[in-house]
Amino acid sequence: MPQVIEWQNAGSEDIVWRYPKEDLTWGAQLVVQEYQMAVFFRDGKAYDVFGPGRHTLTTLNLPLLTGLLTRLAGFGGNKPFKAAVIYISTRLFAGKWGTRAQTTELAPLQVFGQFWFKIENASLFVNEVVGGQNAYTTAEVNNYLRGFLNEKIIDELSHYDLITVFTRLDETSIIVKNTVIDYFKRVGIEMTDLRFEGIDTTPEYRERLFWLKTGKTAPEDVLRMETVKNAAESLGKSGGGGAALGTGMVLIPQIMTPTGTQAAPAAALVICPKCGNKVPATSKFCPDCGTSLAPPAAGAINCPKCGKSIPANSKFCPECGQQISS
Ligand SMILES: [Zn+2]
Ligand SMILES: [Zn+2]
Repeated sequence: MPQVIEWQNAGSEDIVWRYPKEDLTWGAQLVVQEYQMAVFFRDGKAYDVFGPGRHTLTTLNLPLLTGLLTRLAGFGGNKPFKAAVIYISTRLFAGKWGTRAQTTELAPLQVFGQFWFKIENASLFVNEVVGGQNAYTTAEVNNYLRGFLNEKIIDELSHYDLITVFTRLDETSIIVKNTVIDYFKRVGIEMTDLRFEGIDTTPEYRERLFWLKTGKTAPEDVLRMETVKNAAESLGKSGGGGAALGTGMVLIPQIMTPTGTQAAPAAALVICPKCGNKVPATSKFCPDCGTSLAPPAAGAINCPKCGKSIPANSKFCPECGQQISS
């Protein structure tokens, strides 16, 4: 009976699985199901990659690994050999993200949203994430992606000031998305979408935001606002991760859920600095109290690259990403 190598019972949330044995034989049957890829892996490096089908392992269909084995002493061509077989899922996954970040003026931000991704380049993914990060299980891959995504979002948001983030959230989130997509591509992952669904700051900075836009001190009731905590709590419940929320800290639930069961993502929301209502990020005026949500015209300049009117204190153009020298 030939050896059979197969990822059986792969769950819809499983991203990666390592075949438990590393002693392999020529003539073994490698079974790769739909939405799977199998990557031969040895000494931290990816070799031959197999798509769906039933494959009989020979030196002909494992040319890269055979090349390595030939260079190693004692390889006879039909002796058993050592390699790991890493299976990955090529399904589209949906995840929730959420993190703390800060603006150029160090105003604390809490942001959350959703993202969708799939593994596009199995070899690159196995080299960079599985081998590179020692992430051999779905839980380890999840942990890595979560940290990686949050780190890039934090880094991107640190280029923007408070008023830009709050009044131009849609443009900001598109630029952040495009940057993050590039980073994921470098590790073999195609991020098909990344959405911001909510953003908030502390009461002190909400007051400052109000002052920046109106020149007035915020009335007492501005401070009695619903915070992103409430939204994050419901997010935690629906995500099924069961993670308890700390004070003001947005924790992401278990990020992987099979796509298809997701509700349509809501439009991104910002908190009106005057009345505290959540309003769509695209609003120019608060639909509840009429406060202008557009950036103050007095402090506007034109971007030297795309010509759009942008806040004078921008470090980067929120339209085109051009660095603005001040
Ligand atoms: Zn309002
Ligand atoms: Zn521009």
